[in-house]
Amino acid sequence: VETATDAHTPAEVPGARDLFSKFDPLIAEREALLATGVRDPFAIVMDEVKSPTQAVIKGKDTILLGTYNYMGMTFDPDVVAAGKKALDEFGAGTTGSRVLNGTYQGHKEVEDALKEFYGTSGAMVFSTGYQANLGMISTLAGKGDYVVLDADSHASIYDGCFLGDAEIVRFRHNSVEDLDKRLGRLPADAQKLVVLEGVYSMLGDVAPLPEMVAAVRKHANCMILVDEAHGMGFFGANGRGVYEEQGVEKDVDFVVGTFSKSVGTVGGFCVSNHPKFEVLRLVCRPYVFTASLPPSVVATAATSIRKLMHAGEKRAHLWKNSQRLHKGLTDLGFKLGTETPQSAIIAVILTDQTQAVAMWQALLELGLYVNMARPPATPAGTFLLRCSLCAEHSDEQVGQIIGMFEAAGKATGAIA
Ligand code: PMP
Repeated sequence: VETATDAHTPAEVPGARDLFSKFDPLIAEREALLATGVRDPFAIVMDEVKSPTQAVIKGKDTILLGTYNYMGMTFDPDVVAAGKKALDEFGAGTTGSRVLNGTYQGHKEVEDALKEFYGTSGAMVFSTGYQANLGMISTLAGKGDYVVLDADSHASIYDGCFLGDAEIVRFRHNSVEDLDKRLGRLPADAQKLVVLEGVYSMLGDVAPLPEMVAAVRKHANCMILVDEAHGMGFFGANGRGVYEEQGVEKDVDFVVGTFSKSVGTVGGFCVSNHPKFEVLRLVCRPYVFTASLPPSVVATAATSIRKLMHAGEKRAHLWKNSQRLHKGLTDLGFKLGTETPQSAIIAVILTDQTQAVAMWQALLELGLYVNMARPPATPAGTFLLRCSLCAEHSDEQVGQIIGMFEAAGKATGAIA
């Protein structure tokens, strides 16, 4: 019996077009990989999450080393209590845009917390960090403007450029010289937005912001936006990010960030001292044309941000963990994304997909979850196991992690 669904299966209709055919190479590559018997690195389910550093995956207690939970705020009792209270008092969701019915007291409170945290006059909260970049870049730089960005920029930065229709000019990753050269080729009277990241999330390396700012200042009509998604909470005296730590706060026009990493929930934001900042609320499409964050989410974010203002001890422990893991893996003979520890991200570079997946699976079977990253997310066709540390990883856990890397590395031949 032919059903309506069968009748529309493209393969059964001669000469039918199939918009999915462009994905055939990817489907074939994945099928070949999974046929070797490995688990799918992109289909992990956390059955239980016990703490910022522990989960149960397929019945096994697993240490989490592949989250962005840098400061371990997801289970902070004050953060959780604030979320529950807001859920009870304001309900499950706002069902509306920030510019219509979707601004509650909690959205104002989290924007106030951000203004205090960053010491800025303006703060605008988006539903994700992805949307914050999408919205800020597309709204600031439109047709006829230029966005000058690092070649290794996050997907949300690239997508912001496409949405805004600006000319995109890329410079070589973290190259001050190339940035200067490319800016020098643009018309002096054109408006330019230079987009930088404090920490680049694939290799965990940090941008040389003072040198980059100095290069930008040689050219006319440039504004600077820094994405501090991976720097917030951890870098700088107040945890604002790499731009604070490196002393360029006065030179940065816009800081974009996320609640999905150190803050421990979900959401995105931009902070700025620009006197006309508020007008963006009316013209920024990824801000206007989507529902605002649920009250429970903004309440957890505000509480977490306020606690991160006094998180010196956590920050120190996160640095200690990062340095110890970097040294441990280097001593074992692994090739890492940076020669010295620069952030809480430590990328283990493997030779190819087969070795990366074998190593990833061996670690999982030992009880360690790390992120597998592959092109196009990674630079220069690299296959990485990306480790990100948490301030809540205990000394004992870091020791266990190094031991697991040694065992998995030897079993898979990744190290001698
Ligand atoms: N910017 C950078 C540099 C990121 O790494 C990410 C997320 N990984 C984002 C922005 C987007 O953040 P969100 O998860 O809040 O969408």
